[in-house]
Amino acid sequence: MSIISNILKYNETFVDQHGYEEFQTTKYPDKKMVILTCMDTRLLELLPKALGLKNGDAKIIKNAGAVISHPFGSIMRSILVAIYELGAEEVCVIGHHGCGMVGLEPSSVLEAAKQNGVSKNRIETLMNAGIDVSKWLTGFQCVEKSVQNSVHLIKNHPLMPDKIAVHGMVICPETGKLDLIVDGYNHANAKETEPASM
Ligand SMILES: [Zn+2]
Repeated sequence: MSIISNILKYNETFVDQHGYEEFQTTKYPDKKMVILTCMDTRLLELLPKALGLKNGDAKIIKNAGAVISHPFGSIMRSILVAIYELGAEEVCVIGHHGCGMVGLEPSSVLEAAKQNGVSKNRIETLMNAGIDVSKWLTGFQCVEKSVQNSVHLIKNHPLMPDKIAVHGMVICPETGKLDLIVDGYNHANAKETEPASM
């Protein structure tokens, strides 16, 4: 049986047996928080549990590395929607140790793409169209600095209100221990000027 068939079979029972009842809540975050974190599988249940979050407590946005690669991309838009439309009052960027984005080399991703049937020609066409695939596929060297950079970008975004506290943390994917990298309350009304260097 395929993964999807298994999921659909499980889902039928889940709904029939009212498994959803304990999760019922609203779309507005009770703890008035929006979290940007990594898609790492180890954080799927660990992160909310380690933060004491239950269904309905926070908006959680995930991608590879908890990175904002563009100030007007979908991550930043999600953060702004969480604040202006859904009542979030604090932002928390949570990177983690042992992240797959540390040291990610574009050459290795592109090589894997080629091995999976993506032609060299297609990659060159993108490059020729001005899309810097290599830059786009580059990870980071230090998770703390990456978190600081994301916090800086959010805090200094032209559409971000000054009153919003933007925090930065790093979580251990084994123990769930959090380290506070940027205390957003110290900067809640003061925009920083210097981004951390990568
Ligand atoms: Zn990660």
